[in-house]
Amino acid sequence: MEQTLSIIKPDAVAKNVVGQILSRFEAAGLRIAATKKVQLSQADAEAFYAVHAERPFFKDLVSFMISGPVVVSVLEGDNAVLKHRDLMGATNPKEAAPGTIRADFADSIDANAVHGSDSLENAKIEIGFFFAARDIY
Ligand code: ATP
Ligand code: MG
Repeated sequence: MEQTLSIIKPDAVAKNVVGQILSRFEAAGLRIAATKKVQLSQADAEAFYAVHAERPFFKDLVSFMISGPVVVSVLEGDNAVLKHRDLMGATNPKEAAPGTIRADFADSIDANAVHGSDSLENAKIEIGFFFAARDIY
């Protein structure tokens, strides 16, 4: 069993499609082990995306991620990290396969609806960023 971190980003929360996105995870066999709605501070977003600090889009990414609340969840299941990435689709929604979350709900590479951990190692770090062990069942 793997665990991975999902973030439903401010654009998708504003579109009121949180339930539709969480349903896709459940339909694909992932279980919601923890979930909550959070308003990130600038310091939170900078720390979470620290790996991208030197990228040209970093400032825009941080501004976008604090533009409204997000819904963070721990998803659990077989092969959860890759399964979740497949459900999300490509980073740029124009390149995302039909039927993926980003193809259906994202408007641009900035406002791209969801985040998902890209490895088991990063999943552990990202889950720890948002949840204590006692919050995950
Ligand atoms: P995420 O980490 O949000 O799940 P990802 O792993 O598909 O997305 P990353 O390469 O980790 O993509 O980039 C993190 C986020 O930074 C992307 O989701 C996107 O919103 C933004 N981003 C990435 N590349 C670009 C770019 N070339 N221009 C603008 N924004 C970008
Ligand atoms: Mg990433």
